[in-house]
Amino acid sequence: MTGSAPSPGERGEGKASSAADLVASVVRPEIRALSAYAVAKADGMVKLDAMENPYALPGPVRARLDAALARVAVNRYPDGGADAAKAALRRALGISDRQAVLLGNGSDELIQIITSALARPGAVMLAPEPSFVMYAMNALYAGMRFVGVPLSTDFSLDLRAMRSVIEREKPSLVFIAYPNNPTGNLFAARDVEAVLRASPGLVVVDEAYYAFAEASFLPRLAEHPNLLVLRTVSKVGLAGIRLGYAVAAPEWIAQLNKVRAPYNVNALTQAGAVELFADTAWIAEQASAIRAERARLEAALGRLPGATVFPTQTNFVLVRVADAKVVFDGLKARRILVKNVHGWHPLLANCLRITVGTPEENDLLLAACAELCR
Ligand code: PMP
Repeated sequence: MTGSAPSPGERGEGKASSAADLVASVVRPEIRALSAYAVAKADGMVKLDAMENPYALPGPVRARLDAALARVAVNRYPDGGADAAKAALRRALGISDRQAVLLGNGSDELIQIITSALARPGAVMLAPEPSFVMYAMNALYAGMRFVGVPLSTDFSLDLRAMRSVIEREKPSLVFIAYPNNPTGNLFAARDVEAVLRASPGLVVVDEAYYAFAEASFLPRLAEHPNLLVLRTVSKVGLAGIRLGYAVAAPEWIAQLNKVRAPYNVNALTQAGAVELFADTAWIAEQASAIRAERARLEAALGRLPGATVFPTQTNFVLVRVADAKVVFDGLKARRILVKNVHGWHPLLANCLRITVGTPEENDLLLAACAELCR
């Protein structure tokens, strides 16, 4: 500021507190206690840790995408309503006119939007455990109380426990990952329906892995006014564009729409989505190749001495080995990155979560595992 007296900050007054002191006095203790989400460095490694699709876009799809991106006017804000991207998704997925759609910067952002919209003082979020960690994290960010209900030992929903916790806690929000991460299994549809019927609030059925599963609640939206189906394009080959979508009754979406940032989905992603969903045959083909490799991995991992492979309807395989740390470290030394989920939950003791890679990557993984699990 020229010509006016310096402010106290500019004069250096009130500088007694260090940034650390200030942080300690104003940042919420539960936030200070957290560590930021760590993404493992994977340069030059066989990357089987993040449920990505290992295949690049088919050449013609890539060319269409590049041409569409070249036309984007990046000097302008994106379409705030993302109308064209939503229309492309609606067409591709056959979403009924009676349902509304909300797009997010990944489904992670939609989880955050849903949670902050429902976080009334005293409100409870419920989810089975172990499940996707971001549900509980978002409850914490929004100041909502999180109640986890342990899965049964076979990773199915413990319906008796779920019912009694729903009765006791009256959760405003329930998250069910369908199929579940990190266990990989698909819960029985009748159990999810029972949760929908018993729940007094919104039930989010998170279908991040829909492309690899044999069931979906998307066609069931009209039956359940408290159902929201959440999906992402991350696992089908588009993790880099960060696009998630929520489908529910318009009454829900109208409220959630107020909570999102005005331009939450950028113009490149919107234009990309229009192009990529104009024809989804490539998604189905890649998903089917991944499912075939998944079956091969399940069978081969299951033959390793001391290994237990759990049923999966995702693009990853959960496997219990004698010592997860030894196998994880041994794979890492061989430049193969998987996820060691030991320690996340007692039900995951000595478990590794291995994303299905290309046939060549899976061969490398299996050869390394054969050396490490003798
Ligand atoms: N839901 C589940 C069950 C997941 O496993 C993930 C990714 N690990 C997400 C949501 C978030 O996906 P994204 O933000 O990439 O859309």
